[in-house]
Amino acid sequence: MNITPDEVRTDLYVEDLKQRQQEIYNNIGTGNENSWKDWKWQMRHAIRTIDQFEHLTGIILSSDEKIRLSKVVEIFPLSITPYYLSLIDTENYSTDPVFLQSFPSVHELNIDSNDMRDPLSEDHDSPVKGITHRYPDRVLFHISNTCSMYCRHCTRKRKVGDIDSIPDRQSIEEGVNYIRSNSNVRDVLLSGGDPFLLSDEYLDWILSRIREIPHVEVIRVGTRTPVVLPYRITDNLVGILKKYHPLWINTHFNHPQEITSSSKTALSKLADAGIPLGNQSVLLAGINDCPRIIKRLVHLLVKNRVRPYYLFQCDLSEGLSHFRTPIGKGVEIIESLRGHTSGFAIPTYVIDAPGGGGKIPVMPNYLISLSTNKVVLRNYEGVITTYAEPDSYISPTCDRNCDACSLQLRLKEGSEYKSEGVFKLLSDFDDTITLTPSDNERVKRRENDDSDEE
Ligand SMILES: *Cc1c(COP(=O)(O)O)cnc(C)c1O
Ligand code: SF4
Repeated sequence: MNITPDEVRTDLYVEDLKQRQQEIYNNIGTGNENSWKDWKWQMRHAIRTIDQFEHLTGIILSSDEKIRLSKVVEIFPLSITPYYLSLIDTENYSTDPVFLQSFPSVHELNIDSNDMRDPLSEDHDSPVKGITHRYPDRVLFHISNTCSMYCRHCTRKRKVGDIDSIPDRQSIEEGVNYIRSNSNVRDVLLSGGDPFLLSDEYLDWILSRIREIPHVEVIRVGTRTPVVLPYRITDNLVGILKKYHPLWINTHFNHPQEITSSSKTALSKLADAGIPLGNQSVLLAGINDCPRIIKRLVHLLVKNRVRPYYLFQCDLSEGLSHFRTPIGKGVEIIESLRGHTSGFAIPTYVIDAPGGGGKIPVMPNYLISLSTNKVVLRNYEGVITTYAEPDSYISPTCDRNCDACSLQLRLKEGSEYKSEGVFKLLSDFDDTITLTPSDNERVKRRENDDSDEE
């Protein structure tokens, strides 16, 4: 039986892809002509063992290699959708970006001295199960503990697939209650695992519970389904999502080879529903650590109405050391983009700080020097230029009395305006001069001296 395969895969391997999907389908051996594009069929037939992988791809590994890989899979399970599997160029699989992202490697057992179990301290910043509350006005809400494809570079590797579970209504309610009782949370980021592996009905219910909370302005969903399971983006799902605007989606393309006609269809369904789309990539050694590859990727993304949002430095999670690049590689990539291509095609390169410090942007330096009346800058071409500061500038001194200010903010409810962090050092209304680490020895000595005097 012939399936309806993907017609094109960017500009590469067009014929190959059709053929490969047909072969994989034939090897799976069950279904009808619509099965290939049925996401539940794809999930049921996700590749979970090395034997299945060999059977479906025709790639044969040595028995020695298989023994070593089975140890990896015991710790970090394997799952690849038939669709994502079909993107692997089987002739050159060992350097194939899809293979490298989805197939286990013995390197995953190398625990580098810098590796950490929970590098982002997501467990520490978790007030209730499923919620990570790190930033003042937004939370991460883990509503699914499962994925269709387990990315080998996953930060939450130890958790995802471990107990392939979906939180029950009661634990979702606990998260919802937390959000409801914290009125400063205006942005809820649904994550997991992959939220889109939940059923339409369950997702509809979760979204409706969150949407009921008056102070939640924006709902975001992080999902890799447009990349690894594009058939999940059904008309029915899109119909549900549309009811909860403003709803934003971030997806996770890492390589141009992942953009196919099916993923394009999925993205356009979402964009047509008025959902702003972003993309978070991870910089991965041997996969996309190349300015040309990232440039090609961001161009394909914006062509498909996806705004490159973040380029992540690979985290320090256990078993990821073989994927890590030096930070210089990321800076080099941003240097290759800024000025050279459309500004909206350029992601922000960030390092998610170990220990829960959150995302820290890293960029090439454009500010070369400054005096009181001039700033020296350089552009992407290496041109060094100056910008003259204004002769007279009167900064609106901020005493937080917005009603009396000449600038018109005009808030109905004169809400509390707090400043935190480095911004606090800059503000007029706070006389903090320094930020000092809590374990600073000098300050501790001073406190001890003070208590002696009493
Ligand atoms: C990334 C992240 C967010 C969202 O950060 P943005 O910079 O707003 O995209 C929120 N909470 C946690 C814990 C995160 O890791
Ligand atoms: S630009 Fe260089 S690193 Fe990138 S794909 Fe070509 S040869 Fe490889």
